[in-house]
Amino acid sequence: MNRALSWLSNLFFPQRCCLCGKVIEWRQTMCADCRREGPYVLPPICDLCGRAEDTCSCRKRRRHYERCVMPFYYDGIGKSGIGQLKNAADSAVADGFAAEMAEVMRREYGGIAFDCLMPVPQYPKDERKKGYNPAALLAQALSRCTGIPYVDGLRKLYHTKPQKELRAVARSGNLLGAFTVDEPTAAKDKCVLLVDDTITTGSTLDECAKMLKIYGARAVYAVTAASSIYKGEDV
Ligand SMILES: [Zn+2]
Ligand SMILES: [Zn+2]
Repeated sequence: MNRALSWLSNLFFPQRCCLCGKVIEWRQTMCADCRREGPYVLPPICDLCGRAEDTCSCRKRRRHYERCVMPFYYDGIGKSGIGQLKNAADSAVADGFAAEMAEVMRREYGGIAFDCLMPVPQYPKDERKKGYNPAALLAQALSRCTGIPYVDGLRKLYHTKPQKELRAVARSGNLLGAFTVDEPTAAKDKCVLLVDDTITTGSTLDECAKMLKIYGARAVYAVTAASSIYKGEDV
């Protein structure tokens, strides 16, 4: 849509905040009040786990992905927005969060040329129950926002218990072999951006990145909408 047309359409269909519905300025996605609520992950950030240095608990442990970054902590609008996304396939929320994720990527991943972005998959039966995968909604919105091609290249083979419900010792084995690469050419020699809604321990992204590397990915980076402020043992 050209500028004049979108300005006109905004007169009749005003832009609304994707989280609270308040009328906002043209071309924005979230209102000032929601933005103020955050909580944003502010630099300086850890160059591995992506959390602010004072909340990082990764102990610089290397992963199969190079780095992860995210705009929000899983609290305030980070929590309510992801809740909205998990309750309904709300593309306005996905677009709003994708805009914030793209902003962090511009700051942290500025020089990186990604060949494609891929969502962390759900087990097909779990996805059918809900009707969609929130991570895929975010990845599609991020693809629209950044122009990085969306590829649905990973598949989850088993249902696994949520990592946060398991004790540390069970967590490391819970996801082993749970993911595979569906389309080997999608990964070979590619620089892949993995997309998920939340990072908690990083194990899910790690397992996906491991499989992408096995299938020949040159590099794997990650971006999520939010990070749990995880104070426990990062496994
Ligand atoms: Zn709002
Ligand atoms: Zn860290």
